[in-house]
Amino acid sequence: MKLHEYQAKELLARYGVPVPEAYVASSAAEAVEAAGRLGGRVVVKAQVHAGGRGKAGGVKVASDAAEAGTIAGSLIGTTLVTAQTGPSGAPVDKVLVEQTVDIERELYFSVITDGGLRRPVIIVSSAGGMEIEEVARETPERVLTEPIDPAVGLQPFQGRRLAEALELPAGAVRPFVALAEACYKAFMDNDASMIEINPLVLTKDGRLLALDAKLTLDDDALFRHADALALRDTGQEDALEVEASEAGIAYVKLDGNVGCMVNGAGLAMATMDIVKSAGAEPANFLDVGGGANEEKISTAILLMLSDPSVERVLVNIFGGILRCDIAARGIVDAYGKADRQPALVVRMLGTNADEGKQVLSDSGLAIELVDTLRDAAEAIAR
Ligand code: ADP
Ligand code: MG
Repeated sequence: MKLHEYQAKELLARYGVPVPEAYVASSAAEAVEAAGRLGGRVVVKAQVHAGGRGKAGGVKVASDAAEAGTIAGSLIGTTLVTAQTGPSGAPVDKVLVEQTVDIERELYFSVITDGGLRRPVIIVSSAGGMEIEEVARETPERVLTEPIDPAVGLQPFQGRRLAEALELPAGAVRPFVALAEACYKAFMDNDASMIEINPLVLTKDGRLLALDAKLTLDDDALFRHADALALRDTGQEDALEVEASEAGIAYVKLDGNVGCMVNGAGLAMATMDIVKSAGAEPANFLDVGGGANEEKISTAILLMLSDPSVERVLVNIFGGILRCDIAARGIVDAYGKADRQPALVVRMLGTNADEGKQVLSDSGLAIELVDTLRDAAEAIAR
């Protein structure tokens, strides 16, 4: 679950991370009032669940309160397309009106879970700011990754090593180490999967400030963070993904046209690989889970079919706890209810596979039944 910049900054500030003074505004009038409180000259920042706002016109300087209102009015209610939102963009419902900061240097700081290392890492670069992607690509030696042993936490020597990589002046080293410790604690306490501060700035008067903040919470740990649920903004999420998560279905929208419905995340990923190896592109990742029933299968298929880019469907079921005949009934039910019936390839194996195939053949639907993954790939390519 992603947080907005303003929510991330509020959370980090509670841990002692220094952030600029700022107020959230949902209308031009509120922005004028906020800018007035900040002395007029402010930065107005679109609140969307994506970075790249600066380059896309979502971060603008206003020289007085009236201009802050004009900028807020031109952003609120629109859709902002950035390099990270995809072509459909993200709706701007709120802006953050923030004091302008005199920037000496822009640095990069993040805490993420590194799956390969199986531990959190802190990543810093002295070349932070809006070009960080190019820095990482072209001059990776300017990026330092410090793995943290979760059993002992962030050690002071690691803080100093990071500070050195950031080429900080002597007076900023202690505040930086404190900031790194605060972010690491926030990361662990909240079961975050990412905290990114880009830029972390060194101001002209030598202070460190988190000028931007991105925070992602691990969905699988949300059950123990009831308060965090209030921070969710489903308006920023893909509508089908929201519907799926409410139905307990793991669904991720992708760019292709082959709808995939599978039970089990590993099998779902293997199925997507098969689709790709056949030269086609999956339209989604969809895992109905091990204990799905007929209704859930039907819901999953209908959800998948409501994506207009789905032109063909591949179902790959390994019957275990979920019996194949139950899955088959769910498929037939959904195709009966759907307003369109894209070509359907089904592979079924395991518990009650024969009964399942019988249900499918008896349905009268034009279903191509295949036995192996290779056959499935060939059928979907055809
Ligand atoms: P994004 O990463 O989505 O582009 P940022 O919040 O990082 O958005 O803002 C982009 C750039 O705008 C920053 O790198 C910084 O140069 C400038 N900026 C952002 N907030 C402020 C501020 N309060 N004062 C001065 N400059 C700012
Ligand atoms: Mg940024």
